Amino acid sequence: MRELERIATTAGFDAVGVAPAVGAPHGEAFHAWLSEGCHASMGWLARDPERRCDPKRILPGARSVIALAMNYFVPDSDLPGDGARGRIARYARGRDYHNLIPKRLKRFDLALQSEGGQQRCFVDSGPLLERDFAVLAGIAWHGKSTLALHPRLGTWFLLAAVITTLELEAGTPMAAHCGKCTRCIAACPTGAIVAPHKVDARRCLSYWTIEHKGALPEWIRPLLGDRIFGCDTCLDVCPWNRFAEASREASFFARPASQWLLRDYLALGEAEFRALFEGSPIRRAGRQGFLRNVCTALGNVGDSADLAALEKCRSDADPVVVEHAGWAITQIRVRTP
Ligand code: SF4
Ligand code: SF4
Repeated sequence: MRELERIATTAGFDAVGVAPAVGAPHGEAFHAWLSEGCHASMGWLARDPERRCDPKRILPGARSVIALAMNYFVPDSDLPGDGARGRIARYARGRDYHNLIPKRLKRFDLALQSEGGQQRCFVDSGPLLERDFAVLAGIAWHGKSTLALHPRLGTWFLLAAVITTLELEAGTPMAAHCGKCTRCIAACPTGAIVAPHKVDARRCLSYWTIEHKGALPEWIRPLLGDRIFGCDTCLDVCPWNRFAEASREASFFARPASQWLLRDYLALGEAEFRALFEGSPIRRAGRQGFLRNVCTALGNVGDSADLAALEKCRSDADPVVVEHAGWAITQIRVRTP
């Protein structure tokens, strides 16, 4: 374990633990969640769910799962109040962790290979219920918001996992410390946390602003507020986040591209969008999705100074952008007669 801790620290991780490669404790709940359609249009989640719940199906002969957490918390920066800016989820303000973390996991793979192990490494997009293994490994508990919580890091961390054929000494599962708190459930602007430990993606703003393709349904638009990529509300209110310290990882610090005035994003063509968000998670939404979100946020928080940029978008080549720009103009005119 000491060697794992040493590798984890030098690779920039903030917590490490080992779980046995058993079936995921929330496997049944995950199946029920899928059968209720709570994964919305994220079909890849429903692809081979058995595999996600069992490390041995991912790596035959798996004996242990190394669970890792990397702090990505960065404090909010003070920006001049010269116009409406959008809110971007903290994890997406800097560089994409999908480019960063796999390289760091390679160090575990190499070290364990030298002991005769075979490994599979995952971060977030991996086909494994990583949260369950973080709990079994004793580095986190399963919060009512469905996020993993760590006593020191709060909720501001990314989880990664290394499945190995080596038998490593497992930690003690972490007990939950949410107690009677229900702040995340009460604060969710859309009621997406439909029960403790259960988020319905069909109501969640992270889903709508990042994963959903095409137009946003009218009912969700006012609920976006000024969010243009993801939602941190259930993290912001969590009392365990009061201990949060800034990440050691410079890659997570906000890039200037995530701090523009909302109306300035509307001038981005396809090539400029790709160049501006090169290496950023925001590219995942695509120009259509991002400008759709920006128009919606302007409809909620913009004013007459934003109308000219929105009017230009009405002749955009993308019909989704055109429609959302029109919606935003109507909202602003109703609000500021
Ligand atoms: S991310 Fe936002 S919308 Fe989704 S559950 Fe959390 S608070 Fe609700
Ligand atoms: S806000 Fe409260 S209930 Fe929600 S995850 Fe944090 S401690 Fe748990």
